[in-house]
Amino acid sequence: MQKTGSDITKEVFIGGVMNKKLVVVKLGTSVLTAGKLHLNKPRMVDIVRQCVELRESGYKVVIVSSGAVAAGRSQLPTPIGNSVSEKQMLAAIGQGQLIHQWQSLFGLYDVPVAQMLLTRADVEHRERYLTAKDTLTQILKHDVIPIFNENDAVATAEIKVGDNDNLSALVAILANAEKLILLTDQAGLFTADPRSNPDAELITQISEIDDSVKSLAGDSGTSLGTGGMATKLQAAQIAQRAGIETIIAKGSEANILVDVLNGEAPSTRVLKFDAPLEGRKKWLLSGPKSTGTIICDLGAVEALTCQGASLLAKGIVGVNGVFARGDLVSLSDSQGNVFAKGLSAFDNQELEQIKGLHSQDIAKQLGYVLSNVVIHRDDLVLLTS
Ligand code: GLU
Repeated sequence: MQKTGSDITKEVFIGGVMNKKLVVVKLGTSVLTAGKLHLNKPRMVDIVRQCVELRESGYKVVIVSSGAVAAGRSQLPTPIGNSVSEKQMLAAIGQGQLIHQWQSLFGLYDVPVAQMLLTRADVEHRERYLTAKDTLTQILKHDVIPIFNENDAVATAEIKVGDNDNLSALVAILANAEKLILLTDQAGLFTADPRSNPDAELITQISEIDDSVKSLAGDSGTSLGTGGMATKLQAAQIAQRAGIETIIAKGSEANILVDVLNGEAPSTRVLKFDAPLEGRKKWLLSGPKSTGTIICDLGAVEALTCQGASLLAKGIVGVNGVFARGDLVSLSDSQGNVFAKGLSAFDNQELEQIKGLHSQDIAKQLGYVLSNVVIHRDDLVLLTS
């Protein structure tokens, strides 16, 4: 039976659970400028054409677009430096031009676009995160293409995500996307630098981003391309844990978006973890930065990772960092391997006093009772498959 537009919308748009056929497409500066100093209009035209084609075959498309700083730079007659405030000024100048270009190119197909500028602070607080999610939901429901970028002009070091690879993973979580496509200047992750090593082979599939995979990425922008494979793997790891597949592919290839989705273009696919996370846990993955670490004994690691338990004071052997009640902390084993994140019901000083104690002794030690568990299961997200 032929699907109508509204059938497709229903299939794609199913509230809190994963939105099948919703893709987040991240376009790096090198893709949008074709490696030059200005936005490259033919490249943008081609991307727009492909996004429209995807829409016509039932996909919802969300864009994360870099290029504001590059666009700003190209508008000023004199060269501008690279200090933070100069780049913020360039982003303020260029963001307008960037969105104007997208608007006029999508306008050729009568497709409206919406600008969404975020910083980490906008996803850190659960209420702000949910507000951004509601706005995005409305935008998608009305068949508008949202175009995200970091709100560089006002983002200080403390509140910024810092790079659009990581931002795109947060956007993919916000959108409950099925897939995240990172378009860059390489076909994916290689076994060695393909520009200097003719034997370098493309890694087509990754199921776990371990240290050996990370070591292939090198530092941002130095090893395998200006796109920075290291931040792409960080993004893929966040997406993977949230149940979203990531595809890294070369943005300059003709028809790349359509081809990667049909499995017909060279790319690196980072598979998603199977266990789906509920919304609050996805937010824990995407939102707050952890401010401390709780070190757990073997029994607690086992209970948390294999038995779905909450973290009790008894299983804590150490506490690092300064944090308040309700802050996000990392959980590690005694070798320092971080295996989970969660919201602590106690601050670091209280935990120092109650670590190793049975739950019934907490009140006696502190003189008050806050909670019988240190991190409740509902406030905890595992970082392993
Ligand atoms: N937000 C920056 C810009 O629009 C790009 C950051 C990045 O590409 O990681 O220029």
